[in-house]
Amino acid sequence: MSLRETNDPLPMTELIGTVVAVQANFYQVQLEVQTISPPETMLLCTRRSLLKKMGQQVMVGDQVVVVEPDWLGKRGAIAQVFPRKTELSRPPIANANQILLVFAIAEPQLEATALSRFLVKAESTGLEVCLGLNKCDLVSTDELLQWRDRLLNWGYQAIFMSVSQGLEYTINSDHQILQKSLFQTENYFEEKTLLHQLQNKTTVISGPSGVGKSSLINQLIPSINLRVGSVSGKLGRGRHTTRHVELFQLPTGGLLADTPGFNQPELECEPQELVNYFPEAKHRFQQGSCQFSDCLHRDEPNCIVRGDWERYPIYLDFLDAAIAYQEALQQQRDVETNVKSKMKSGGKQQLEPKLASKKYRRSSRRFQHQTLQDLCEDFNEEE
Ligand code: GDP
Ligand code: ZN
Repeated sequence: MSLRETNDPLPMTELIGTVVAVQANFYQVQLEVQTISPPETMLLCTRRSLLKKMGQQVMVGDQVVVVEPDWLGKRGAIAQVFPRKTELSRPPIANANQILLVFAIAEPQLEATALSRFLVKAESTGLEVCLGLNKCDLVSTDELLQWRDRLLNWGYQAIFMSVSQGLEYTINSDHQILQKSLFQTENYFEEKTLLHQLQNKTTVISGPSGVGKSSLINQLIPSINLRVGSVSGKLGRGRHTTRHVELFQLPTGGLLADTPGFNQPELECEPQELVNYFPEAKHRFQQGSCQFSDCLHRDEPNCIVRGDWERYPIYLDFLDAAIAYQEALQQQRDVETNVKSKMKSGGKQQLEPKLASKKYRRSSRRFQHQTLQDLCEDFNEEE
């Protein structure tokens, strides 16, 4: 549902905009140009005290109603925040609709499991996922074509590019590779090009270190000047260590977050849900369904998912990790409740070893070797 389709239609005079930056108690709002274009499109706003009283937070990406515009001073006040369609925590951003996952095809070498870990994490956000493979200048045509076919089998039509050369590689029906300019705005209306993918969407770029994310953001938003090759882009710009994000308008329409998103994926989804984050597995559900509604697609009889697809072993591996993660969480809860319930009268404490929840116990190989702390280190490392 678009925001305009809410029950009470908004009067035409209302100023609506998107929060593109937040600093202390000030919000930079980019106004939409509607039937009447406002004299200024960027206003520095405060939050109406009623919103404060209601505890209504305002995030970057929020759609808001602005009142009391002071066009000369370029000021205004936020009077209303529309319900969020999506909300990401890292970076904190509302209403993003796309993750552009960037990997390098070489240096560092592209590897199916690492890539899948990020893809799964990206899919689990529920946002649209677009995959960009950078550094294509470093590989042969054959290698590029191999990856293209492989990824198509996974369910992804990747964008192949070289940010440093400003090129994008498209493959025609004769398996010939055509080179196009990556950043020339004339290309944006051509489907499957990067600029087309970014058009009219709010995009967050994610991916591991060293793949060219900062280089790409720099090229797309030349005014921001992220330091390339730095361990943490934002620190390199002399900002505070707190996560700070700003949205920038792209020349072809659409907004881009200037801070890369997660760069350490955490496999913390419910084991039951994991299969939905593999497009090729989801595709198999269109052919039928598993006998058991709670099938985890391991060795259950009459399973539609189990089979001869390339990433099935990766699915099984991630399933183990997801189960181990959930069990570790459960065990932690059990330990906490146990200590309480075993407190005897007279202050004597009796602790009993408690087994992990039975739900997934059967074949969680990993759990025996990893403590909760190890798992948290595996999955929660940030930058
Ligand atoms: P980030 O860590 O993902 O933000 O990556 P950076 O943008 O900092 O880039 C990491 C390194 O890769 C830098 O040395 C870049 O110059 C280099 N790099 C970026 N894009 C390309 C590319 O298209 N081709 C090649 N060969 N190197 C690139
Ligand atoms: Zn199944």
